[in-house]
Amino acid sequence: MLEFEFIKRCTGFLPGQAEGLSCGIGDDCAVIIGSMGRDWLISTDGYSEGIHFCREWMSPRDIGRRCLTGAVSDIAAMGGRPRYVTISIAVPPTISEKDAVEIMEGITSSASSYQMVVIGGDTTATLHDLQIVLTAIGDIRHGAALYRRGAKSGDVVYVTGMLGGAAVGLEVLKKNSGRGPVAREASVSRFLHPEARVSSGQWLADTGCVTSMIDISDGLVQDLGHVALAGGAGIVLSADAIPLWNGDSEVVDLQTACTGGEEYELAFTVDGLRDAAFQRLLPAVQGQLGHPITRIGSVVVGSGVVVRDGAGRDITPAVGGFRHIIGKGA
Ligand code: ADP
Ligand code: MG
Repeated sequence: MLEFEFIKRCTGFLPGQAEGLSCGIGDDCAVIIGSMGRDWLISTDGYSEGIHFCREWMSPRDIGRRCLTGAVSDIAAMGGRPRYVTISIAVPPTISEKDAVEIMEGITSSASSYQMVVIGGDTTATLHDLQIVLTAIGDIRHGAALYRRGAKSGDVVYVTGMLGGAAVGLEVLKKNSGRGPVAREASVSRFLHPEARVSSGQWLADTGCVTSMIDISDGLVQDLGHVALAGGAGIVLSADAIPLWNGDSEVVDLQTACTGGEEYELAFTVDGLRDAAFQRLLPAVQGQLGHPITRIGSVVVGSGVVVRDGAGRDITPAVGGFRHIIGKGA
């Protein structure tokens, strides 16, 4: 079963509403009404050895940093400010004390760089693979969180940054596995040292122009599929507009840019009526944020995500992004 079907089957019957809860299951974070005009954002993310990271070609610190960035990215995707984190780690006998400590150092130093305070966690032994579970907690002005839902026909679709570099870096690392240190290609660094778009998410929430937002850690097309579904609309992306990462000697191909996971960029939609005003804000802010913000498509009546070339042909990649398979079947 795919992870989305699994989540729906196991949680779909639960009450989605409770006192003080603005958003439960279904978005990048749960949103709980706080005090003093603020809301709390809460997200839990698990990372497993062999699925999310590999000790053969990632240093313990890199593993820790990458996991923390993934957790923070869900706060960024709501437009929030990261505040606290809890860290659960299950350590197998195959890992040295030194490496386990360095993984924790990777997590805690990265948390500090996002001004987050570590407030607890859990430590256990495990028989086989290393597991890390992080709960990131952020906050945002009451009512200002940006949800996956909210996109509607006539809105314009944007993405932060350049896409596909992290997926290329991961392939470089996998191919090189066991053959010593890789040359530090920019793509490798992009995979190993990602950055969550915290400032960009906060700025976007402040503009008042954005109708929905998601982080694209499972791939642009797949994650925009959640936005389309949640908004009850379709999304048409223009292949020519998708910003292809070009940090190494060659430009990333479109398929990789559309489907490559491991990317912590944000995709969002802007109200069609506010798009002109939004575009006027961009030139000044892109320099400050340190990455481009690119208009890549539009929201239409319909469903799903389609990528079209310059001639209008449908060139949507067959598999949209990264999905976990849960369990062995019936
Ligand atoms: P993300 O990739 O942004 O972390 P996911 O696709 O993992 O989001 O999860 C989608 C939604 O389902 C989130 O709201 C998440 O909290 C919820 N969810 C995922 N797994 C479970 C679970 N085992 N129990 C309850 N809720 C879950
Ligand atoms: Mg997310």
